Amino acid sequence: MFKKILIANRGEIALRVIRAAREMGIESVAVHSTADSDAMHVRMADESVCIGPPSSQQSYLSIPSIIAACEITGAEAIHPGYGFLSENAGFVQIIEDHGLTFIGPTAAHIRIMGDKITAKDTMKELGVPCVPGSDGGVATLEDAKRIGEEVGYPVIIKATAGGGGKGMKVAQTAADMERAFMTARAEGKSNFGNDEVYIEKYLTTPRHIEIQVFGDGKGRAVHLGERDCSLQRRHQKVFEEAPGPSITESERARIGKVCADAMANINYIGAGTIEFLYENGEFYFIEMNTRLQVEHPVTEGIFDVDLVREQIRVASGMDMSFTQENLKINGHAIEVRINAEKLPNFSPCPGKITQYHAPGGLGVRMDSALYDGYSIPPYYDSLIGKLIVHGRDRPEALARLKRALGELIVDGVDTTIPLFHALLEEKDVLTGDYNIHWLEHWLETNLGDA
Ligand code: ADP
Repeated sequence: MFKKILIANRGEIALRVIRAAREMGIESVAVHSTADSDAMHVRMADESVCIGPPSSQQSYLSIPSIIAACEITGAEAIHPGYGFLSENAGFVQIIEDHGLTFIGPTAAHIRIMGDKITAKDTMKELGVPCVPGSDGGVATLEDAKRIGEEVGYPVIIKATAGGGGKGMKVAQTAADMERAFMTARAEGKSNFGNDEVYIEKYLTTPRHIEIQVFGDGKGRAVHLGERDCSLQRRHQKVFEEAPGPSITESERARIGKVCADAMANINYIGAGTIEFLYENGEFYFIEMNTRLQVEHPVTEGIFDVDLVREQIRVASGMDMSFTQENLKINGHAIEVRINAEKLPNFSPCPGKITQYHAPGGLGVRMDSALYDGYSIPPYYDSLIGKLIVHGRDRPEALARLKRALGELIVDGVDTTIPLFHALLEEKDVLTGDYNIHWLEHWLETNLGDA
């Protein structure tokens, strides 16, 4: 086992990893920008290294600085968290070239899944069901129009290198195709340096269901059920739960096995998420994330496992501490994302926290790097906390969420807390009757969010 690991991230996820390491008796090294000198992850880690100025490009994304921080501190492995360098195959290669260990999958797997066309081709071959659409990239507008007719409108044009909801455009009809095709390409080019796009049937009322998978890199892999992350704004998740209210035990077992077998087949190592759209009882693969997800705690809640601990174990060459047979679901878990954002437009709202009080009690987990007097810097993501609740069943989890939200105090900046108070009054949320468009409609009707 490692003696010391470095966490190439900040905020709540850096704390999450430091906590797992500490329980395992592993020392932790935090890295930080000059804007984060007073950040909680710096205070909580055993050691810290300043790696650059505020801009992410020059700090959290600076590979030479991170490698140098490992060399200075003697850290043997790097946990990337999510975002930043977590899905950067080049980073993994450089880590290995320096005789260090990346706590995550191989560069090859990241590369395959990071290109959505290659990912889809690979998954199709592994027997994972995909959204119907173009086979591979679509080079010209004429081809796009022909495929649009074949697949049937509406269709969605997606940049193969896209992510975070960028590089995706819907064409409702043939007349819409030129605009959608050109914009998706331009967004792919400007955001990801790659203008290759592909086309999928646009599903009109699906749910977003993702399967948590975990592999040991030695041909064994398991699934840890699904999460329903259908409540989204601009393709960004805001409320996640496990198990999915619409998924039966037999469906879970079926799709879970397909995913676990696929991962065993490619010798996948570590945590991964296979994302699907789910409509009329069918699963359609959209993409795979080769990292820990923001919403991983709901899975931890219902399976009573520590996914970060497992990531560190398999990265060090140990076996997973669970098998498919002993992974049993217990109860229901829900996570809401607390962002420093001003409603109704969700504009970022950095600033000084004048008061912070985290909720507590049975079944409540608050993952946050906030503290009284902390100043949220304007340079990074607006996620400032995740409130996760666990109950014996969904109604209990919902009641607990409402109670815990009532205890949570974040003063000094605007947050998304009022949104969740409002959502918990909605019948569809209480019954779990929603699809990926529900929240946008609700925001339009109730907040005038355009
Ligand atoms: P990203 O990598 O940007 O997160 P994804 O491919 O994971 O992109 O898609 C993100 C979201 O976009 C999905 O959760 C869903 O809401 C919507 N989406 C993607 N593909 C489709 C599709 N074929 N039909 C309908 N909605 C889609």
